[in-house]
Amino acid sequence: MTELRTLKVALLGCGNVGAQVARILIDDAGALASRTGARLELAGIAVRNLEAERDVELPQELFTTDAETLVKDADLVIELMGGIEPARTLILTAMRNGACVVTGNKALLAQDGPTLYEEADKAGVQLSYEAAVAGAIPILRPIRDSLSGDRITRVLGIVNGTTNFILDQMDSTGAQFADALAEAQRLGYAEADPTADVEGYDAAAKAAILASLSFHTRFALEDVSCEGITAVSAADIAAAKEAGFVIKLLAIAEKLTDEDGKTGVSVRVHPTLLPREHPLAAVRGAFNAVFIEAENAGELMFYGQGAGGTPTASAVLGDLVSAARRIVLGGPGRTETTTGHVPALPIAAAVTSYYIGLDVADQPGVLARIAQLFAEHGVSIEIMRQTIHRDADSNVESAELRIVTHRARESALAATVEAVKGLDVINSVTSVLRVEGV
Ligand code: NAP
Repeated sequence: MTELRTLKVALLGCGNVGAQVARILIDDAGALASRTGARLELAGIAVRNLEAERDVELPQELFTTDAETLVKDADLVIELMGGIEPARTLILTAMRNGACVVTGNKALLAQDGPTLYEEADKAGVQLSYEAAVAGAIPILRPIRDSLSGDRITRVLGIVNGTTNFILDQMDSTGAQFADALAEAQRLGYAEADPTADVEGYDAAAKAAILASLSFHTRFALEDVSCEGITAVSAADIAAAKEAGFVIKLLAIAEKLTDEDGKTGVSVRVHPTLLPREHPLAAVRGAFNAVFIEAENAGELMFYGQGAGGTPTASAVLGDLVSAARRIVLGGPGRTETTTGHVPALPIAAAVTSYYIGLDVADQPGVLARIAQLFAEHGVSIEIMRQTIHRDADSNVESAELRIVTHRARESALAATVEAVKGLDVINSVTSVLRVEGV
């Protein structure tokens, strides 16, 4: 029997994900070696605090605070520290030294991905980051490898578990945003500072990665138009529910042609109404899912746990085995194809349906005036519903109008909403939300 070679693995970070990765590397060493064709030796674990308690019992001699020395002597480096620095410098050092790198750091990839991808190409090493999007769900490799003979036209993703939990909570209990957020924090689904999740920034970083792989063009965070869920009210959710919709925070990347005939990709994150029968509508709690439309494959959906130490560690280990096999078999690093050269289009070019809530005076002729204004702007109305309210104190009646449009360009819709606001019979525009899947 031939002796297996040993590959040295440096682990940077031993938090939620890192600790589980270390556990699996030690506990499943035999199985990993037989799948890889090499022994994966955990050479060391870099952390900030050597005294900190860990989720998993691990040999103390593995720990170090000297991450720089650790990466210089490794064949494979797993970066699970998070943040921009020192993660960025350590990854670059590792690749320049010929190590393959596995990371789950979506913030770093969204901010400075192109520098890292270029360095990986230059060094001929593999940079893998399956864990950076939708945790345990194998989604990047299917897009990059399995669908590389097809043309993806659209990606719709629920890629942030915190916001999906909050919206699901609002939908199932009628809670306001603030109460649902407090519940998410109590259960550990949301952090004390939930900004990155509820403002959509975390989903935007993932949208940039999904769009880049799907359309073979590098998109950066600034190419993503981003709107979070803080303005979604219990009334929006209730109105959507009544009309047969559910509201989800979607990361969307789709190929479009703008008004001037220029083809590009619209990459955006925003709360979206989906028909209750859409496959993504069934994604409850903190789960994630990515729905893909491709020219030949048709519709595909990937579903699973989008976060958590153990599920995310599964994605990290998958990348590690794949990178280790590449080292064992030889051959260049797997490069991303960036030959698409499609520009990112601004949100104004997006084409979708819209849900608009209006508080209007209850007068004859109001509906006709509003309908005419929509028609003048080329936005056709699919559904218009009116509910009358009477103020108990003033006895004044007002009407709540809910409109769902046919597909229209964002710029036309924005102009319509501005014009509607100028009508003397409009008290307020209570909500404008985009609708997908109709
Ligand atoms: P975490 O629990 O905060 O752990 C971070 C680890 O990195 C800690 O062990 C910390 O050391 C170490 N660390 C941080 N800065 C360091 C530095 N300057 N030098 C040395 N060590 C340092 O993070 P996590 O939740 O495991 O997430 C890790 C990465 O995976 C992030 O990029 C995250 O976005 C990504 N990710 C996480 C999940 C998830 O469910 N958690 C899902 C998908 C992707 P100490 O312990 O000594 O402080």
